[in-house]
Amino acid sequence: MRQNIVAGNWKMNKTLQEGVELAKELQKALHAEKPNCRVIIGTPFIHLSEVCKIVDPELIGVSAQNCADHESGAYTGEVSAEMVKSTGAEYVILGHSERRAYYHEDNAMLKTKTDLALKNGLTPIFCIGEVLEEREANKHFEIVKSQLEESLFHLSANDFKKMIIAYEPVWAIGTGKTATPEQAQEMHAFIRKTLAGKYGQEVADEISVLYGGSCKPSNAKELFANPDVDGGLIGGASLKADDFRGIIAAF
Ligand code: PEP
Repeated sequence: MRQNIVAGNWKMNKTLQEGVELAKELQKALHAEKPNCRVIIGTPFIHLSEVCKIVDPELIGVSAQNCADHESGAYTGEVSAEMVKSTGAEYVILGHSERRAYYHEDNAMLKTKTDLALKNGLTPIFCIGEVLEEREANKHFEIVKSQLEESLFHLSANDFKKMIIAYEPVWAIGTGKTATPEQAQEMHAFIRKTLAGKYGQEVADEISVLYGGSCKPSNAKELFANPDVDGGLIGGASLKADDFRGIIAAF
């Protein structure tokens, strides 16, 4: 079911104690404010279980930021989708550009991760987006289409309906350089059209497509006002309760 969503990605920030404090602060504030959208926080693995005990899952969903591309076994340092699920988390961010760039996650590996996440009952928040050189070479549509095709288009329509897509132009992540509302809408409409081409308009209309990249309280409203932008994946501004609440309040 298509929902408006504001999802935070804490990345590699906050000790366990700091993360617990932020989760408590958000739980208290949002309980009073009653957000008009689904709110999700993507914490480091070590926070998941504690944060799940603090937040009301109806109010705040909890997400991991990654999971392994294997079910279980001798993969030192990895955390499986099944392990993520056992903490109480419901979501997993997959394909973030930092994982693609620094940990060499390609479309094939992300296909495996998506399958494992779905198999274990997690909802993937699947990130796609072009780097600056690709946009400058006018290849951004082609890149985004191939990311969808190569990692997700093997899924049945039923499984695809469980996905959340996050369009994150890499040149806008952590740079302070936000896509214009027109650039976001243009790409989101393209993504929905691509999904409709594969799965039909009904399925395409059910999928939430989030924007990510330097989204903040001051620009969230105009980004989310676009018909194909169903909310945001928020990095830096999710680390402070007031900033994150300001973005949630855009809905
Ligand atoms: C992100 O990393 O998903 C992100 C959107 O980061 P930021 O909001 O800091 O640009």
